[in-house]
Amino acid sequence: MLSVSEAIGLLLNDCKRLVEGEEIDLVSSLGRSLAQDIIAPIDVPPADNSAMDGYAFRHAEWPGAEKAIPLSQRITAGSVPRALSPGTAARIFTGAEVPEGADTVVMQEHCEASENSVQIKKLPVFGANIRPRGQDIGAGQKILSAGHRLRPQDMGLLASQGIGEVSVYRRLKVAILSTGDELAEPGSKIRPGQIYNSNRFTMHGQLSAWGFDIVDMGVAQDDPAVIRETFSRAADEADVILSSGGVSVGEEDHVKDVVESLGAIDLWRIAIKPGKPFAFGQVLGTPFLGLPGNPVSVFVTLLIIGRPYLFACQGIADTALHPHQQRALFDKKGSAREDYLRVRSTADGLELFTSQSSGVLFSTSWGDGLVRQKVGEDISRGGLLEYIPYAVLN
Ligand code: AMP
Ligand code: MG
Repeated sequence: MLSVSEAIGLLLNDCKRLVEGEEIDLVSSLGRSLAQDIIAPIDVPPADNSAMDGYAFRHAEWPGAEKAIPLSQRITAGSVPRALSPGTAARIFTGAEVPEGADTVVMQEHCEASENSVQIKKLPVFGANIRPRGQDIGAGQKILSAGHRLRPQDMGLLASQGIGEVSVYRRLKVAILSTGDELAEPGSKIRPGQIYNSNRFTMHGQLSAWGFDIVDMGVAQDDPAVIRETFSRAADEADVILSSGGVSVGEEDHVKDVVESLGAIDLWRIAIKPGKPFAFGQVLGTPFLGLPGNPVSVFVTLLIIGRPYLFACQGIADTALHPHQQRALFDKKGSAREDYLRVRSTADGLELFTSQSSGVLFSTSWGDGLVRQKVGEDISRGGLLEYIPYAVLN
């Protein structure tokens, strides 16, 4: 059996970015991965500006608390100041540019002012209340790297630099298909012997959350001709093919023979629970990931093994899991496979769902993340665990 990290390593070794770059409007860039490093074109803020409503003056000219300084101009945010005349102060507002010649801003609460003059009752330190030019970012600084997935704050940062269009990788196209004669579509009436197709929706939702384009191939019956036709079409239309089911070695598992005849396939037994059978290969040159059929296994293997590979194909630089540490509220013996436990976080620590059976899909929905339990590692209450919130996987 392959360990989980060996399997991920093999996949990442084999993969390359499959998508080219495109220019898009900044406003629709959420979740997209940058195709280029971003070097700041400008200083932000572009000029020294006031952090307070108050008065701008020359620190060395302070005449003492009892003497008034004449006011020579009024500077609001968005206006362009004149240089400060010697011996005067300027009324100034938050965000307004500090005039040349002024070196300090005093907040209005520390002043007594009339229409034409101000007394500074409490002298601030030299340079106070001024946000210097370039305090946030200096022109020429690298602010984001190629392969970074844009978050809301990154969009704001790019906007603050005046960047209205960004170069991102086009969305990876992933074909999804489910195999099995037993599958019925939700919304239809189920016949004896059937179960509803849940994997199609788990895969669809997860791939959408990752920002991929989905080519939904529906269900392929357990019939070599149908599977062949479906896989060929998927290879034609998508960058990567993702299937569920049909990769065990039962008589009705035809994916192996079909993919072998159209390309290549390796059947892996991965030491992961839930999971285990996993296929990797290519169909007419298009990479192919064959997830197990079991719905909990689909969810877990897609997150843990599929995600790093698909992210790398999309050009995303960071494919790691970044687990958090949290305390266990339960005991559990280790096993011969790396176990991804369905848990829920509370203020006191992590609760384990009562049934960790791979047939219990409810465990994934009940919780908010997975715990990675390494091979042979026992968990005892109060111990620190590697917790992977679903949120950090999206
Ligand atoms: P298989 O790998 O095709 O033998 O499937 C393993 C188990 O997962 C069987 O119990 C299947 O009925 C079930 N299964 C396979 N595909 C799906 C699906 N799309 N939705 C729900 N259950 C599935
Ligand atoms: Mg099947």
